[in-house]
Parts: sequence; C-alpha cells; structure tokens
Amino acid sequence: MSALAVVVPAYNESEGLREFHTRLAAVFDKLDLAACVLYVDDGSSDDTYAVMESLRASDPRVATLKLSRNFGKELALTAGLDNVDADAIIVIDADLQDPPELIPEFVRWWREGYDVVYGTRSTRAGESRLKKFTSAAFYRVMERLSATPVPRDTGDFRLLSRRALDAMKRLRERQRFMKGLFAWVGFRQKAVVYDRDPRFAGASKFNYWRLWNFAIEGITSFSGAPLKIATYVGVFTALLAFVFGVFVLGKALIYGDPARGYPTLMLVILFLGGVQLMALGMIGEYLGRLYVEVKQRPLYLVDELHAAKEATTPPPLR
Ligand code: UDP
Ligand code: MG
Repeated sequence: MSALAVVVPAYNESEGLREFHTRLAAVFDKLDLAACVLYVDDGSSDDTYAVMESLRASDPRVATLKLSRNFGKELALTAGLDNVDADAIIVIDADLQDPPELIPEFVRWWREGYDVVYGTRSTRAGESRLKKFTSAAFYRVMERLSATPVPRDTGDFRLLSRRALDAMKRLRERQRFMKGLFAWVGFRQKAVVYDRDPRFAGASKFNYWRLWNFAIEGITSFSGAPLKIATYVGVFTALLAFVFGVFVLGKALIYGDPARGYPTLMLVILFLGGVQLMALGMIGEYLGRLYVEVKQRPLYLVDELHAAKEATTPPPLR
C-alpha cells in the first residue's frame, strides 16, 4: 500500500497523456511519500490504453485499469476509487486542466488534518464565455436546491483521506453526481483556489447536451425540489382556475350564455395541458432514475487491471 494514490480517468486522451505523466512524475519525484498513479481507460476508441501500458512499462509507479466500454467520467472515477488502496488519494483530469503541481499543497493540507481538499477554480482559461456562464448558473441553482452544499466552481480535482475514500466506496448509487457525493461525505473540507489551465490537447468530451443532462443528474440526485415545484405550480393553477371559474359563472348568470368563449377555452386547455405534461415529465425524471437503481446492475465492468510494479501499489483484481 502506498501513501498516496492518484486516480486519472481518461477517455480518448492519447495525445496529452504522456505530457501529463511527465508532469505528474516530476511532482512525484519531489514528494516525500510513496506515490503511485492509477490510469483508468474509460473505453477509449483511440490508443489511450496503449499509451497507458507503455507508461506502466517504463515507470513502476503506474497501474492501469481498462473498463469494458465507455461508462462516462463519473463511473470511470468510481472504478478508479474502488481499485486503489492508499492513505490518501487524489482525483485529477488527464487533460492537464488541473495542474498536478498543486498536489504537494493538497498533501500539506491533508497533513494538517483535512479529509477532503478540493481545488476551486478562480479562472478558467481556454473555455468559452457560454460554458463559463452556464457552469456558473448551474452551481448557483444547485446551491439553492440541494440540501448538501456543493461547493461552487469546483471540479473533481481533489484529495481524499483514507476515511473519506472509505465513505465514498460505500455510496453505490448508479446515478452518480460525484461532486455532490464528495460533498455529501462531509468531514473536514478545505478549498484550494487555483487558475484552471486550458486543455493541453484534444477537445472537451462534454458538449452542451451532455452538460445539460449532467446538470439534471446533479439536481435530481441531490434535490427533490422539482417535484415540489410541480406541486406548487399545480396548486397555483388550481387557485387561478377557481377564480376564473367564479368569474365565468358570474358572467353567465348576469349576461346569459351565448355560446362564445372559444379563445378562453383553448387557452385554458392548452395551459393546463402544458402544466400537466411538465409535472409528469418531472415525475418521470425521478421515476426513470428509480428504474435504473432498481435494476441493480453493476456500476461498471472491468476489462483489464494491472497493478503497479513497485511494492507500493494498488491491490490486485478483486
Ligand atoms: N472522461 C472520461 N470519460 C468520459 C468523458 C471524459 O473518463 O466519458 C475524462 C476525460 O478524459 C478527462 C476528464 O474526464 O480526463 C474530464 O473530461 P473533459 O476534459 O472532457 O471535461 P471538461 O474539462 O471539459 O469539463
Ligand atoms: Mg477538461
């Protein structure tokens, strides 16, 4: 067992992976504790895994894990966490947006007694305005809705102590919003502010549609507020309908009822129909997640797992 294990999920990152490892290894060399790294290949379609294997051949501190297909970052990360065993672990992206040079500072805070040390981005170079805006909006909505406070502008780049890691391993939900889960764990948490660099190579794997779904995932995993919104919108509409009903009835009693009112009729039908569909959709979002959870499928499947050659390694296949 090593003192520090770094988990790196990677999906089609072959272009930048060597550079990443060079920088990570330089950080390792300066650390005063035994460190190793576990590269998780999330079913890449390029030669990412081959690059990982060649890194493992040349550096005894490298372990590799290959998933059977692309499961998405949250699950790749989970697979990595499940397969490391260390006093502290670090989660970092493979694209060098999170600088590995920050690791010693994370370790320093961990030694001070913090269980979760996370990187909070003060700036995000190389990302579009729209992405920064939508991301900021999302964190603020989450802040409002979620009972578990998810820190703002914080990615997955962080250090977990042994007990925080053990706690994470006990969370087996299938719909995983990792940032929320990390926050849910609690313990002593510490933010380290840093400037986020642009990607070293390749393109982001998250387009806006994927980010939108990711946001829904986050909200539904940590908040039932949309269901409440549906209830309140329903109550409000019913009240409105009642008032309108009294008005229509009164009007008919006083002025009689020549068969007019097609526009109002259409308006009411369309409005109520819309509100009902929206509420149904919200319920559906939760129901769909319930369905996935009930199936009890494994979270991910491992194709290959290779421990690091050095004695200080993650454990063999379980
Ligand atoms: N990633 C992954 N599986 C996926 C998508 C992404 O393991 O299905 C990895 C990716 O290789 C990178 C990290 O998750 O190491 C963050 O992805 P990306 O840089 O595309 O996200 P962004 O920084 O744009 O939010
Ligand atoms: Mg990135």
